Amino acid sequence: MLPEPLRRVVQMFARLPGVGEKTAQRFALQLMSDESLASELSRELAALVQNVRPCERCGNIAEVDATGAAVCGICSDPRRDGRLLCVVARVQDLIAIERCGVMRGRYFVLGKLLSPLDGIGPDELPLPALDAKLRADGVEEVILATPPSVDGEATALLLGRELAHRGIRVSRIASGVPHGGDLEFADQITLGRAIEGRRNVDSVG
Ligand code: ZN
Repeated sequence: MLPEPLRRVVQMFARLPGVGEKTAQRFALQLMSDESLASELSRELAALVQNVRPCERCGNIAEVDATGAAVCGICSDPRRDGRLLCVVARVQDLIAIERCGVMRGRYFVLGKLLSPLDGIGPDELPLPALDAKLRADGVEEVILATPPSVDGEATALLLGRELAHRGIRVSRIASGVPHGGDLEFADQITLGRAIEGRRNVDSVG
């Protein structure tokens, strides 16, 4: 029923999280009726793809600078305590923890979790990049803030062992985040307490 170009745009919107077919159609039709919004959006999206990349040090979102390097604001902020590193699964989790305002160190975004069922083993995790971050910042303590799911716990266990062997103090965020829950959706107070009440996992390894 819809012209082909419009149908393609609707299908793209429908691929976004939380957007169903109807909402996708509403977005597309709205853009058709607002030409300036449509061209602005297409310009901004092109600029986004061109100028924003994962931070080469931590995996957070970073803007590409004049030299072509992409280092995020947290990694380049000298007021951050490089000795404290918080390991998260996704950028959304980093953003949620930042919102609590209790983290004075830096982050490392794994991008994925151990998941034997999906064929994701230790070799698929970005461990060499994590290692580079640990050395570059002289990290002394790592907070494992992977989600309290089966995959998140398995990943924390693996990392906890590796790091403890290297003499790095390791802690896991405290309970308060519901099991199987998403860090992104935990309220700020709960998540803030979980970070502050982290417990040592040296004994696990
Ligand atoms: Zn960074």
